[in-house]
Amino acid sequence: MSLAVVLSRRDFREYDQLVSVYTKEKGKLELLAAGIKKSISKNAAALQPFFIVDLDYAEGREWPRLTKVLTVVSFVEILKKGDALDLLGKSLQAVDSFIRVGVPDAEVWQLLAEWLEFLNASKSFSPFIYSIFLLRLGKALGYQPALAGCVVCGVEDTAYFSPQAGGVLCAKHIGSTGENDKNFPLSREAAGAFQTVFQMPLSVVNNALLMGKIVPLALVAMKAFVAYHVAQGSGSVSLPKTKNSSKLSFV
Ligand SMILES: [Zn+2]
Repeated sequence: MSLAVVLSRRDFREYDQLVSVYTKEKGKLELLAAGIKKSISKNAAALQPFFIVDLDYAEGREWPRLTKVLTVVSFVEILKKGDALDLLGKSLQAVDSFIRVGVPDAEVWQLLAEWLEFLNASKSFSPFIYSIFLLRLGKALGYQPALAGCVVCGVEDTAYFSPQAGGVLCAKHIGSTGENDKNFPLSREAAGAFQTVFQMPLSVVNNALLMGKIVPLALVAMKAFVAYHVAQGSGSVSLPKTKNSSKLSFV
């Protein structure tokens, strides 16, 4: 048995579905759920995106076959909040399209579990929280902005941020990372605020955002980084290669 989150389900043949799940032990898997659309199917009710489930599967001819699924944790409060449901749908779609089958990653699993818990428990959501989720997902996959020092020379006295360069730049190196390199001012305070979103729980980041405690310059930089490195909604990613880039599926 393996703990899992259901990412998507799509119809396949008359009574079957292909179910994409993110499991704690094996990462993303695509499982054939035979007979799932029949009214007598015991597994159908447990295959919900707002559950953490425990599932079992067996080798199959084309896909592993889902044999058993049980609900372990239910986040039903999400169903009562339109904004939470919308955030859940977008985020699971992003995970499903960015991550390849069969590469387990403890950080992705922890992020998913924390995100579900957060969506379930929080009463209101910052319009910015989805960008934070994408930043955290990018970090789990090995794409983290370099905020400690200039990406070219390492000097800590930086004042600019370049999404293309993947981090902060000193005054000497602005414009040195490419002709179309768009950069903008980022104070040390803003760079610090940017860094904290990777260290604080999602609920704390959400509250700080709702209370206007994260400096606008940091938000601009975060948004630009996400927009440049994760094309939102299109399911395509364009990120600089790192040691972990094999985890991404370029579809
Ligand atoms: Zn520099």
